[in-house]
Amino acid sequence: MGETNRLLDVIRGRNAKTVGLQFPVGLRTKAVELAQEIEAKAGVTCLVSADPSFGACDVADMPVDLIVHLGHAPMPHLRYNRVFFYDLPGPPLGSMTFIDAAEPMLPKRVGLLTTTQFRHWLPAIQAHLEKKGHVVRIGEPDRRVAYAGQLLGCDYHTATVVEGDVDGYLYVGMGDFHPLGVAILVDKPVIIADPERGTARDLKEMRDHILRQRHAAIVRAQDASVFGIIVSKKIGQARMDMATGLKALAEKHGKQANLFLMDLVGPELLQGYRVDAWVNTACPRIAIEDILQYKQPMLTPQEFEIVLGERTWNDYVFDEIRA
Ligand code: SF4
Repeated sequence: MGETNRLLDVIRGRNAKTVGLQFPVGLRTKAVELAQEIEAKAGVTCLVSADPSFGACDVADMPVDLIVHLGHAPMPHLRYNRVFFYDLPGPPLGSMTFIDAAEPMLPKRVGLLTTTQFRHWLPAIQAHLEKKGHVVRIGEPDRRVAYAGQLLGCDYHTATVVEGDVDGYLYVGMGDFHPLGVAILVDKPVIIADPERGTARDLKEMRDHILRQRHAAIVRAQDASVFGIIVSKKIGQARMDMATGLKALAEKHGKQANLFLMDLVGPELLQGYRVDAWVNTACPRIAIEDILQYKQPMLTPQEFEIVLGERTWNDYVFDEIRA
C-alpha cells in the first residue's frame, strides 16, 4: 500500500526504533495487521494505543520515536510533534443512486459537505448535480480543517463560508454527527445522502429534537448554584482561556464555578463531585451526544451564557472550536 511505503520512508528517515499506532474505533480491526507489517518491514517495535481516539484533536502522548495517527486528517493550525498522519480515504465512488435519492430534496443552489473519508468524491458529485441544473459550492477550509467541503463535529466553516451563496446543503456520508451542527447553526435545509444505505434524508426532525433537548438542559441548570467547568488536556480541545473566562462570568453572577482538568471526559469520571451542573469546554459534542449519560445537566459554553443571562435562547449557537 502506498501510504505504508510513505510511512516506512519516514520511519527510516527519522531512524525511529519505536512506533506508536493510534486507531479510531472503526479502524481497530486493522491494528494488529498494520503493527505486524511495520515491525516486519521496518525492524521497529510498535506500540498500539488502546485509549480511544476521537479525532486529530486528540493525538496520543506515547513514549515512542514516531506516532502514527490513522483515520483523521491533520488540523493545519496545530503543531504536532513526531506525528505521521496515515491517510486512509474511503473507496472510490461507485453508483450515484444515493445522490439521485437526495436530489429532489435539494434547492437549486447547494453547498456540498462531507468528511475526510469521502472528500475525493466531491468533484464528481458536483459535476453530477450541475448536470441536473444545480449551482454547487464547496467551501474552502479554515485552519482547523484540511480539505474543501470537509466538516468536523466542532468546525462548520466549510458550510458557513458559502452560506450566502446557497439555499441548502447536501452532506455526503453516514450518520448525523457531522451535519447536525450545520443544521443548527445555519437556518437552511441539510440533506444527508448516505452511500452505505443508498438513501437520503432531511435532518430537520433530528435538529428540532436536539434543540428541545438543549433547551431542557438549560432549564434544568437554572437552579444550579455550583458549576464544574471542564477543561481538556487534549492538544486540539484545550480551551483554558475560555474556561477561566466562564468561571469569572459565573462569579460575576454570584454562582460558584470550579475548573476540572481532564483527558477523557466520561460520566463515571465525574461521579462524586458536589457539582450541580457541568459546563464542557472540551470536545463540543460531549454535551450533545452523551447528554443522557450524565446525571447533572451538561452544558456547552454558550448554553452556560444563557443560564447566566448573558445570552438569550434566540441567540442560541452550536459550540465550535475554530482556529
Ligand atoms: S473536538 Fe470533538 S468534534 Fe472536534 S475533531 Fe475533536 S473529537 Fe471531533
